Amino acid sequence: MTTDAIVIVGAGHAGGRTAEALRAAGVTAPIHLIGEERYPPYERPPLSKELLTGKIAVEKTFIQPEAFWAEQAITLHLGMRVEALDRARRLVRLAGGATLDYATLVLATGGRPRRLALPGVESPRVRYLRDIEDTRALQAAIAPGTRVAVIGAGVIGLEVAASARILGAAVTVLEVAPAPLGRVVDRAVGDWFLALHRRHGVDMRMGVGVQAIRDGAGGATVALADGGGVEADLIVIGVGIVPNIELARDAGLEVDDGIVVDQFGRTADPAIYAVGDVARSFHPLLGRHARLEAWRNADNQPRAVARVIAGGNEPYAEVPWMWSDQFDVNLQVAGLPRVVDRTIQRGTDDKFTVIQLAEGIVVGGITVNQGRDMRPIQQLIAKAARVDVERLADAAVPLAQIVKGA
Ligand code: FAD
Repeated sequence: MTTDAIVIVGAGHAGGRTAEALRAAGVTAPIHLIGEERYPPYERPPLSKELLTGKIAVEKTFIQPEAFWAEQAITLHLGMRVEALDRARRLVRLAGGATLDYATLVLATGGRPRRLALPGVESPRVRYLRDIEDTRALQAAIAPGTRVAVIGAGVIGLEVAASARILGAAVTVLEVAPAPLGRVVDRAVGDWFLALHRRHGVDMRMGVGVQAIRDGAGGATVALADGGGVEADLIVIGVGIVPNIELARDAGLEVDDGIVVDQFGRTADPAIYAVGDVARSFHPLLGRHARLEAWRNADNQPRAVARVIAGGNEPYAEVPWMWSDQFDVNLQVAGLPRVVDRTIQRGTDDKFTVIQLAEGIVVGGITVNQGRDMRPIQQLIAKAARVDVERLADAAVPLAQIVKGA
């Protein structure tokens, strides 16, 4: 028997948005949304911020009220893992042996924290942060005075550090690179965040390698490559994610640090799409494939792909954008430049904007407590605008005016 069902594997942010957007696009076929976690689709940004500091309840992270899915005739299979894909028979195999047939399959399997292969890393004091249960475990372990060692000064590591300080912990951040946030901002902005965390009492140790974790009676020691050690009650590792590509790979689809798809989210199998953190999509604006690990991509790429599944032909070409909140600072980053040959900074030391140029064209931008500049920066990036650098450097000229002239 043939089916017209759409099966979505992964009921995270991107999977949930795909299902929702399919209905919004008028798709009436059965939709199955299968997720390994026990929660309905939710947003992860609060996990290291407001949820960790106890400012919001878990339900606030849900992308829709719980009743929404049934109302939309979207069948949620929660606490259910998909074990394998059978492309020839167009079915997915669930844990326990049941199968579900599909006409269209969307892979929205996201990523999992990259593990560190360190001696002693299996200590119960070691934690990662990706899901609600991880946040709960961190919350339970952090109290005023708790000694927290964070390994990795990327976005998640620094957000955990800030939240743990807010909760009264004594926090040390260990990073092998010379400055934090090396994957998202330039060195100058990284150094600015280094100073920010130090001002808030975080012991920021840059350029240090971690060698081992040794559990003791009253805590653990993080042994450093320089022979030193950091005593900790809790160790949080934040060294990036690994995309969950295994289902696609084992089914013979192309993978390359992500599931390779075109600008419409399609794999080489016309019945199979991929969205969100797991997708390495062709990005028309960048002119290359890129895998984006950010809220906006998880929110909007699925909408674009759902419209394609519903019969449309608009590619997803939005400017890459992400943000982070640490203490009272809001960081936003747009673009994904590979080469920057000039940067222009506008603003003061506590509120500023960095515009990144390559051969006179705006390719990226960073704002620190200056979110209002983000929209014009994205417009300049989208236009691949060649701008008058002197006007760009003149903070008296609003960016919106430069956009008009671009
Ligand atoms: P995920 O959210 O990882 O969802 C994938 C889901 O698929 C998971 O629930 C997983 O259990 C499920 N799954 C995987 N394999 C299977 C299987 N075989 N069977 C069934 N289910 C499966 N971005 C920003 O722009 N700004 C921020 O401030 C920000 N903060 C963040 C804070 C944290 C702590 C984290 C973890 C991420 C943050 N992000 C932020 C990134 C953003 O949340 C992600 O880009 C987004 O969650 C990606 O959504 P996704 O649906 O693609 O993947």
